[in-house]
Amino acid sequence: MPNFQSFTIDFLTRYFQQITVYLIATVLVYSVFYIILKKKFLRRYIGRHFPDQNKIKFEIFHSLISRIIFSILIVIVAYSSSLGQTKIYTEINQYGLGWFFLSGIILILWHDTYFYWVHRLFHNIHFFKYIHHLHHRSSNPTPFASNSFDPIEAFLEALPIVIAIYVIPLHPAIILFWDVFQFGVNIYGHLGFEMLSSCFTKHWFWGWFNSSTHHNMHHTHFNTNFGLYFNFWDRVMGTNHPDYHNTFESIHERALDYQI
Ligand SMILES: [Zn+2]
Ligand SMILES: [Zn+2]
Repeated sequence: MPNFQSFTIDFLTRYFQQITVYLIATVLVYSVFYIILKKKFLRRYIGRHFPDQNKIKFEIFHSLISRIIFSILIVIVAYSSSLGQTKIYTEINQYGLGWFFLSGIILILWHDTYFYWVHRLFHNIHFFKYIHHLHHRSSNPTPFASNSFDPIEAFLEALPIVIAIYVIPLHPAIILFWDVFQFGVNIYGHLGFEMLSSCFTKHWFWGWFNSSTHHNMHHTHFNTNFGLYFNFWDRVMGTNHPDYHNTFESIHERALDYQI
């Protein structure tokens, strides 16, 4: 391991990057939806009331704690990678362009599967209180809740990419793509506004992707809608909320009412 001084410098550098990305993305999205264009998007708001400022501070505080966990893991994995212990590679030609793209798809499918099953485990009566309760304190989440986790959950949320880095060859560009993708989907899941068009959830193709309503309903109903990117495992395991499609469409019917 690096000595304490270089570990501290690496950690502080990574943590600064981590909180900068988190704050820029969430403040930007929050400002657009909850302040600048609030009136325009009001009809798309999923919840019944807006969260108070204390809940938002709570979400930001715990997200910044989660980013400490992420930063420590990044420093450890980066150091391990410098010793050649991971499967990270830098020359695309080493595995070819086919693998370069395929590895991105595998990473997303793996993360989606890991998230669904680990998330269901979080909701087990023996674990919920200790691991996942904090995230569910946001009953009508904002984008700031996207990283609002208990420290143990933060570690388990980061684990799938750490495992992948040690198991399959990954190019840094794919890891970066995955990180942007997963954070974007995460923010959308906690947006509080449904921006997808009517019939999305019943579409033969798009219906396999989750909406913001899907995860928003998870925050209010707890034991349904566990999935992340895709509406695959929830469908296969029968854990979609029975009112998912109706709730999604009711937001659009409300939107039409506003326009009349
Ligand atoms: Zn959530
Ligand atoms: Zn949950």
